This record gives sequence, C-alpha cells and structure tokens, in this order.
Amino acid sequence: MGNGHGGDFIIERGGEKVIALAGNPNVGKSTVFNALTGMKQHTGNWTGKTVQNAQGRCSRGGTDYVIVDIPGTYSLIPHSAEEEAARDFICFGSPDAVAVVCDATCLERNLNLALQIIEVTPKVVLCVNLMDEAEKKKIRIDTTKLSEMLGVAVCTASARDGKGIEQLMDLLPEAMGKQLAEKPCVEYPEEIEKALGKVTPILEKLSGGTLPCRWLALKLLENNEADASQLALFMGREIAENDELIDAVSAARIFLSGHGINEEKLSDIVTAAYVRRGEEIAENCVTFEKENYYDRDRRIDKVLTHRIWGVPIMILLLLGIFWVTVEGANYPSALLSKGLFALGDRLSEGLIFMGVPEWLRSMLIDGVYRVLAWVVSVMLPPMAIFFPLFTLLEDVGYLPRIAFNLDKGFKCAGTCGKQALTMAMGFGCNAVGVTGCRIIDSPRERLIAILTNVFVPCNGRFPTLIAIITMFLAAGGGLLQSFTGVAILTGVIVLGVLLTFAVSKLLSVTLLKGVPSSFTLELPPYRRPQIGKVIVRSILDRTVFVLGRAVAVAAPAGLLIWILGTVQIGDISLLMHCADFLDPFAQFIGLDGVILLAFILGFPANEIVVPIMLMAYTASGTLVEYENLASLKAILVENGWTVSTAVCTMIFMLCHFPCSTTCLTIKKETGTFKWMLLAAAMPTVIGIVLCAIVSAILT
Ligand code: GDP
Repeated sequence: MGNGHGGDFIIERGGEKVIALAGNPNVGKSTVFNALTGMKQHTGNWTGKTVQNAQGRCSRGGTDYVIVDIPGTYSLIPHSAEEEAARDFICFGSPDAVAVVCDATCLERNLNLALQIIEVTPKVVLCVNLMDEAEKKKIRIDTTKLSEMLGVAVCTASARDGKGIEQLMDLLPEAMGKQLAEKPCVEYPEEIEKALGKVTPILEKLSGGTLPCRWLALKLLENNEADASQLALFMGREIAENDELIDAVSAARIFLSGHGINEEKLSDIVTAAYVRRGEEIAENCVTFEKENYYDRDRRIDKVLTHRIWGVPIMILLLLGIFWVTVEGANYPSALLSKGLFALGDRLSEGLIFMGVPEWLRSMLIDGVYRVLAWVVSVMLPPMAIFFPLFTLLEDVGYLPRIAFNLDKGFKCAGTCGKQALTMAMGFGCNAVGVTGCRIIDSPRERLIAILTNVFVPCNGRFPTLIAIITMFLAAGGGLLQSFTGVAILTGVIVLGVLLTFAVSKLLSVTLLKGVPSSFTLELPPYRRPQIGKVIVRSILDRTVFVLGRAVAVAAPAGLLIWILGTVQIGDISLLMHCADFLDPFAQFIGLDGVILLAFILGFPANEIVVPIMLMAYTASGTLVEYENLASLKAILVENGWTVSTAVCTMIFMLCHFPCSTTCLTIKKETGTFKWMLLAAAMPTVIGIVLCAIVSAILT
C-alpha cells in the first residue's frame, strides 16, 4: 500500500519498521520519543517547537524500529506547513504503525486527532500520557473501554518518569498487523454516509481492501485541489483514473449538493462529527472525581487572557520579575566584583613575583582579566535570577498565553502571534531568538520576526539598562525609587514591543507584503512546574551559555581595548582619538564620542559596552573596580553625563545594530547578506532618530 513518500520526511527503510509518533503539541511527544530512542531532544513548553523531524532507532523482541517524531498537530486538516508535513507523513508516508500520544488530563480535546488518524489507518496505538498528572487531578480513564470504542490498542504512560514506554513497545506488533475495522469509528450525518456509500464500495473493490477507503472517499468528496495530486499518487494511477470511480464520485457530489452540502460545508460537518465523537468517547471513558480541570484552566485563562486585563496582567507579571531581578542582583553583584577584583590583585602580585614584564602584566590583568571580572559580576547575578523566573513561566505554560494576548497586536501588524514566543526567546539572547523563528511557518512572517527580534533587549543589554536606570533615573535606595526604576525598565521593554509592532507593520506593508497567516493558537493546560529542573535547565542551558559566550568575547575585546587605551599618539590614547572623532555626531544624538565608540567596539558583544566606556573615561586603559553604582555614577557624571545622556544611551542600547553573533545568525537563517544588513540598519536608524528627538527635547 502507498508509495512511501511523505512530504519532508525521508526515511531510510532497511529491515526496520517505521513508527510515526503523532500527537497534539505539548502532550509529551518529545519526551516519549526520548524515552523510546534514548535521544535527547530539548523539551520546551510552547507549540510548534518540533520543527524539523527527529528520527531515532530502537529494537524490541527482535524487531528494529525507526521512530519518527512528527510535528505536533491538532488535526489532519492542515493549517500550517508543520501540520501539513505531519498530515502527509501519516496519510501518505505509509508508516508501519502510528503511535498517537495523548494528554490524559485533556483527553477529549486530543481524541479529535486520534479519531482522524484512526480513519486513515487502523494500525494505531494510543498512548495516554501524563497519567501521573491525571492521577493527581483525580481523573480516571477507563482504557479498556477507550480501546473498545476506538478499536485500537491503548496504553497509559508517564513518559517523564519513563513509565509505560515498555507497554507501548509491546503493543506495536499487534497494531502493525491490524486490518481495517468493519465498523467505522466515526459516523457522519445520514446524507454524508449515503454519499460515502456510493464511493467506498468501488474503492474497496478496486484496491482489494488494502486502502483506507472510507477516508479516501471522504477526501475525494471534499475535492480539495491542493490534495488532489497527492491522493492520486497514493491510490495509484490505475485507481485514480478508473471511470467507475470518477463517475461515482461526481454522482455523490451531485447528491450532496442536492442536499445543500457543498465542499466547504462538508469539511465543517465532518470536523464537527469528530469533535462530537470525541466528546462522546470522553464522556464514556473519563471520570473526574474532583473539580473538572478544564474548568480550572478555563477560569484561569479567563483572567490571564482577558480581552482587556490580559495585557496589563502580563505587564504586571513582567514588572514583578524585573523587580525581583533588580533587587536581588544588587548585593551579589557587588560581592562578586569585590571577590573577583581582589583575586585580580593577587594574580597581579603573583605575576610581579614571577618577574613577568610590566606591559604583559598590565595587558593580562588590567586588560583581559578586569574586563572579564566586570562582565561576570555585572551580568551573572541578574541572569541567574531572571532566567529561572522566566523558565518558570515557560514551564507553567504561560508563554503560549503571552502569544495569545499579543496575537491581535501582531495580526494588526501583519504577522502572527508566534512572534511573541520568538521575542521571549530574544530576552535571553537575540541569536537564540532569531534561530527560534523557525517555529514560524510562513517565510514572510518568519523574516519579519527575524528582522525585529533585536528590539527585545538581550541579556547583554539588560543589566546595563538596569544599571543606568538605577544610577540616573531612580537613584536612592528607597522603595519608591526601586519601584520607579522597575517601572521604567518595564517601560523600556514595552517600548521595545511597540517598536516591534511598528516595524513589523512597516515591513508588512512595504518590503514584505502579505496577508497574516491564520492558525489556531491552542492553549495547553497549565502544569505544575518542576522547580529543580527549571533551575538546572535555566542555569545550564541559558545562563552558562550566555555567560560563556560573553566571556569568550570579552577576553579578546579586553585585550583590544587595552591596546587602544594604552597606545598613545601625541598626548592622548588611540581610544580617545577615535572618541574625539565621533564626538560631534554623538553629541547631536545626545551621546558623546566615548559612548558611541563603546557601542561600535561593543559589536562583538553588548556586554562590553560599559567596560569600554569606563576605560575610556578613566583614560588609564585600566578598568576601575565595580564597587557600587554610586562610584560608577560619579565617574560618568564627571565626564558630563546628565539625565538626558542616560536616557539617550538607554534608547540607543535598545535600538542599535545587533551584536556580531546575532548578525551572523541572521545571515545564516535568511541566507542573504541583504537581510542581515537591513536587520542592522533598521534599528540603528530608528535609534539615531529617537535619540536625536529625545536629546532635542531634554536639553
Ligand atoms: P511535545 O510538545 O508533545 O513534544 O511535549 P514535550 O515532550 O516537550 O513535553 C511537554 C512538557 O510536558 C515538558 O515539560 C515535559 O517535561 C512534560 N511531560 C512530558 N511527559 C510527562 C509526563 O508523563 N508527566 C508529566 N507530569 N509531565 C510530562
């Protein structure tokens, strides 16, 4: 049966059996896949993360299996490229069996997909996952009955704990050997059944019962042009071009339209039938002993995704996270800096003791080491607080709600809500955000998301923003100041989001014209987060990664800056020559030559912008110790900083060319230099204009 072609999925079939792993997004499919194959796929909590398919192998009872993790999908009627790929593989890729992973806590919703798959192939094992959560929520599932009503094998699992995976494997051989059921799983309204009755028997006769005739008949009646060639290929030309079949199909279509059912209506009726059947099965097989958890989630969503309150609540949450980050980071920052700079002094003494020449000692300690120490002590504490909090939101299931809340805004801007998720990733690192844009299916919208990702301040810029706000806009240690500071920080982020909307809109009416794609943003159930895992994951995956990158860049940059700061031409250092050159233009946009130079030299990583400024200001080629923000402010004020300078620096921090890593990533993801240049030029121009305006107003 079939011909083994399945969209983007190319499977090397040796003697192995091919098992497709299907399921709605966020049901633990990747976790099941990892448990089956021993591979490590990152499991995140937002829809559409599985973009490229993963394949893994395993064997059991003498049979070798290839497990294909296909993209999460809600239905076999595709709404996106991902869903289409999933649909193609299940329908036309001829897997030997399909394992459908479901979420036990919301089985009813998941049954829709399961029922559609069962119509295509009876070779299905239904794996009801997240049983541990269902048990906690006192949801009971009668699997015997479920298996009976669906006509396929059913197993339960708690994939995260590795439970139930063996049973799933044990059921595969039985599923692979299964023939089409006598009785269909879903009944359609009478007219449709009658129409099917005209076509199905002919298909059965022609194919000798090897094809899923009922499903094929339905597809033929739906007469979807996009599917036509694939269907023909799937049936084989001989069947597709059979006159008897063609006549029967047109007779059935005429019959349906005689009953007022056109093709579009047919699709709607069929979809409704699946939903109803899903409800019916759930009613029979699922019992809630406690409060119905859909209701609980729905109640929470009523507040968190409220038409009016959703966004303010989101901003409040953000405010809360920033507050904890800012307040919590202060003390450890100062402590770290003390420790690291003291260690630097010891190292310096050690080098002197060893007789290392003074220039080399100065280069290593005053240049490389001090910049490193600065970057670590200013960046590490906020990151170590912010990332776990953010990952917590992700794990609870709040990120898809953010996407939901912002969906309308993005739609207005001509793009899609998934961009909110890539924006969220940009908080960690814009390069990661840019790569994350792969979750967006429409190439046009993906490009817009990539080009605008830089408007969310990444972690290299985030601590600097905090520092500037604390020094100039909310100085003093009181509660009021602290609140003002956090409010301003939130304001900066909101400005970033607004700029993202504006620029997206601009792009989508000029360079990247098009209609926003529609897709259903399903809200996955809320989950109790695994605190331990959240901490480990956010520290390892994010904090260490971002810090590692910053350190790798800061060390050589420290060297370069040291050289620029030390080499003198005439009376002043090379660094100051450059700064003087830039000064007139920089003054015009509310900065000064040193700040602008720091931004330019900070191209490898935004983290080193402030260290460069400090080196230039202190004109020593040496970085002063970061004692506290007050001492830092003193240096800046001495060099002419005012509130206006601070505001302009913040704006430019938010809006300027992305760092080198991000630029390279953009080039890689878009494939051309052109988009990379645009991605760098756009925010820079906007930043310059905004700074010029603000500086004109404030001075
Ligand atoms: P996918 O989108 O379907 O691939 O889902 P993932 O495998 O990424 O899982 C989504 C979330 O559910 C992750 O946070 C998993 O750790 C969690 N998860 C997966 N299986 C289970 C399970 O059996 N029990 C519980 N409590 N959580 C699970």
